[in-house]
Amino acid sequence: MMTGRGVSQGLGMGKVVKITRPEIHIPDEACTDEAACLKQFDDALAASKDDLKAIQAKAKGTLDKEHLAIFDAHLQMVDDIEIVKQVKEKISESMNPLKAYKTVTDTFKAMFEAMDDPYFKERASDIADIQTRVLSHMAGTPLQDLALLDTDTIIVADDLTPSDTAALDLSKVQGFATEIGGYTSHTAIMARAIGLPAVVGISGVMDIEDGALALIDGTAGKLDVNPSDDALSAFQKALKDAKALKAKLDPFQSLKGLTKDGHSIPLYANIGSAKDLPVALKNGAEGIGLFRTEFLFMESSEAPSLETQIQAYSDVFKAIHPVIVRTLDIGGDKALPYLKQPTEDNPFLGVRAIRLCFNELELFKTQLKALLIASAPYPDVRIMFPMIARLDEVQKAKAILDEVKAELNTEQTPYQTVIKIGIMIEIPAAALNARTLAKHVDFFSIGTNDLIQYTYAADRMNDGVSYLYEPLDPTLLRLIQSTVEAAHAENTEIGVCGEMASDVKAALLLSGMGMDELSMSGPALLEVKEALTHYTMDDLIALKDKALAFDTADQVRALFNP
Ligand code: PEP
Ligand code: MG
Repeated sequence: MMTGRGVSQGLGMGKVVKITRPEIHIPDEACTDEAACLKQFDDALAASKDDLKAIQAKAKGTLDKEHLAIFDAHLQMVDDIEIVKQVKEKISESMNPLKAYKTVTDTFKAMFEAMDDPYFKERASDIADIQTRVLSHMAGTPLQDLALLDTDTIIVADDLTPSDTAALDLSKVQGFATEIGGYTSHTAIMARAIGLPAVVGISGVMDIEDGALALIDGTAGKLDVNPSDDALSAFQKALKDAKALKAKLDPFQSLKGLTKDGHSIPLYANIGSAKDLPVALKNGAEGIGLFRTEFLFMESSEAPSLETQIQAYSDVFKAIHPVIVRTLDIGGDKALPYLKQPTEDNPFLGVRAIRLCFNELELFKTQLKALLIASAPYPDVRIMFPMIARLDEVQKAKAILDEVKAELNTEQTPYQTVIKIGIMIEIPAAALNARTLAKHVDFFSIGTNDLIQYTYAADRMNDGVSYLYEPLDPTLLRLIQSTVEAAHAENTEIGVCGEMASDVKAALLLSGMGMDELSMSGPALLEVKEALTHYTMDDLIALKDKALAFDTADQVRALFNP
């Protein structure tokens, strides 16, 4: 049994097909005919773009618009002005075009790989994808044809690129297993969008023989190659059960979050961009409770322009509402290459999120401006400030927003004048001071990912202290409950957007606390909806009261397994 990280849920069974990359020889010889070398480079770019367009056209039947847009991003990367300029400079200095292209793109790849943030880090695989394609054209080595699969298949690769995924005959693919990649890698994003199981980070996966029978469990993060008869029959039973569960949960796609006695618990989805919308919409999200905008800022080598931002925000707003948009949360584990951020000993306790925005006023004001303009037709878009610790930060953020509104008035640019303002409650000081803060904002959203890390002084990225990272711990539940009471005493709405809301047990307890909405990952919506139908509102309140009186998370968990 091989193990890795399950990044897309589900079970699949099939024969292994390995995706191998061509070995491309990069010559050392100098370029002796600059015009011919430049032509070789230009032709390879043109051929790569033709490939990408053909793959994109082929994928139209299987991938939705948002995912097809990844190919637009790749097409742009092929044409990236900076890369093309640097390659041409090297060719004019007599470097051969393969070496020139490899050298330049390796530098860009290394820049992404060096970043701490997993999302940004994984953009290196996009560069690698483009690099292989362009180099293979220059070298005249064709890429593997993945459209010909004749039986149920588990795709095995070092790392899957979006163009690999799109070129595949998806009617035959039952799952993906890769050596590298993470939750936000495109393999993972695509697999989740298509609804196929995926396990990444399986060491030695490329040593598996082509054609071997494999069982993949994207929930448990396991790959069983040449399984025993017992394992095979257990898996077949699990597949049958999974089908039955899917059949049980699918009807909830079109339903809202409702308790057994019809009490509404609005269930929203968390997204990082419009690309995450399909799963949210498919599973019937009633809104977006957290739109993490930082990914837009991390995708390119410079800050997105006002226009780019307006477009990106509008793409989400026109698809679904209400939407709670969180302003930039950079710092901690997320860096922006174009901002000069000093190295910090404790970046999670440092200049992060709103603190950084106060130092980078132009960046912050441009984002606020884009949000106000993009939300002009949508009165139920809301703005949320992250990492608020104290009242003066709320006041300062609101004052900056007022300055931006004044500028828009002067420019006579239409914008959303009645936009609601909220804050994340993810620092214990804010939770403790919730009553005061509630007087100054329209809504709260509890960011349990950070609230847990800061309450228990347990780094959310550090496995060594993961035992302290426990959403069902009664101390945390009491802190959250007191925040709900403070918010409601001031008629301020309150929801939860941390991962805790995706956990069915926690979601039930949070519902019992009286949350006005729960926002979770798109795939979690169905299970939470289904679970809610088993409890009346009184049941949920009683459950929550019991949990709050306990001492340990195990006692709380036991409430659900009588
Ligand atoms: C949180 O802290 O719970 C949260 C939702 O924000 P992030 O995970 O982006 O820090
Ligand atoms: Mg947070």
